[in-house]
Amino acid sequence: MSLFDLSGRVALVTGGNGGIGLGLARGLAACGARVIVTGRDAAKNAAAVAELGKAAAAFQADLTKPGAPEKLVADVLALAGRLDILVNNAGTNIRKRPDIVTDEEWATVIDLNLTALMRLTRAAHPALKASGHGRVINIGSMLSIFGVAFSPAYGASKGAVVQYTKSLAAAWAADGITANAILPGWIDTDLTRKARIDVPTLHDSVLARTPAKRWGDPRDFAGIAAFLASDAAAFVTGTAIPVDGGYSTQG
Ligand code: NDP
Repeated sequence: MSLFDLSGRVALVTGGNGGIGLGLARGLAACGARVIVTGRDAAKNAAAVAELGKAAAAFQADLTKPGAPEKLVADVLALAGRLDILVNNAGTNIRKRPDIVTDEEWATVIDLNLTALMRLTRAAHPALKASGHGRVINIGSMLSIFGVAFSPAYGASKGAVVQYTKSLAAAWAADGITANAILPGWIDTDLTRKARIDVPTLHDSVLARTPAKRWGDPRDFAGIAAFLASDAAAFVTGTAIPVDGGYSTQG
C-alpha cells in the first residue's frame, strides 16, 4: 500500500469548487479519496464534481448561516457514511485599513474565516475520531505571520486559525486526529485577482519578494494536501506549513 494512498477515505473540502480549494481537492482525489466539496455557487460546485471523478459530490452551503456547518457534516455522513479528512479552506477578505473597518465588515470576515471553521470542525469531531486517522487541514495565510495595513480582520482571523489548529492538535491527538495549517503565499485565484485591483502595486511587490519569481497556482496545493491527509503524515500535527515559493523567508 502506498504511503499516500487515500482509498476508502472521505474528504470534505470547503470552498473546494475553485481556487486553492480545488487544487487541494485534486490532490486528495488523485490519491483515491472520495472528495466532497462545498460552496455557495451551484455551477462552480457542479464543475468541480465533474472534474473530481464519479465518486465526488458537492453540497451547496453558505457556511456563515446559522446551522449550516452542522448540517453540512450531517449531509456528508448521510451520503458517504464517514468523514476522514476535513479541509477548512473557504475564506474571504475585505480590504480596509483598521481605522475605517466597520463592525459589519469585521464580522463578515471573522464569521467565515474563523467562526464557521470552528463550528464545522467541532461538528466533524465525532466522525473524525471514528475514522481512526482523522485529519484537519486548515488554510491560513502569509497574514497568519505578517501584518499588512489593509487587512485587519483577515489578518486577525488567519493568525487565529494557526493558534486554533495548535489547540486541535493538542486536544485531539489522543483521538488519532492530526491538525495542521497550510499557509499559502500569493496564489493566482479569484480572491487575489480582486486584490490586484484593490492594491495596484501588489503584483510587482509579490514578484519582487517571492524567491520563486512567480505567483503560486492552485496546482501547487495538490501535494501538500495529499501528504498531510496521508498515513505518511501521522506524526505531523500542530504545524503551519508555508506553500509560498519562499515568500516568508525574506523580510
Ligand atoms: P477564492 O475566492 O478563489 O475561493 C474561495 C472559496 O470559498 C470559493 O470556493 C467559495 O465558493 C468559497 N466560499 C466563499 N464564501 C463562502 C461561504 N460563505 N460559504 C461557503 N463557501 C464560501 O479564494 P482562494 O482560493 O484564493 O482562497 C482559498 C483560501 O486560501 C481562503 O481561506 C484564503 O483566505 C486562503 N488564502 C489565499 C491566498 C491567495 O493568494 N489566493 C493566500 C493566502 C490564503 P463560492 O463562491 O461557491 O461560495
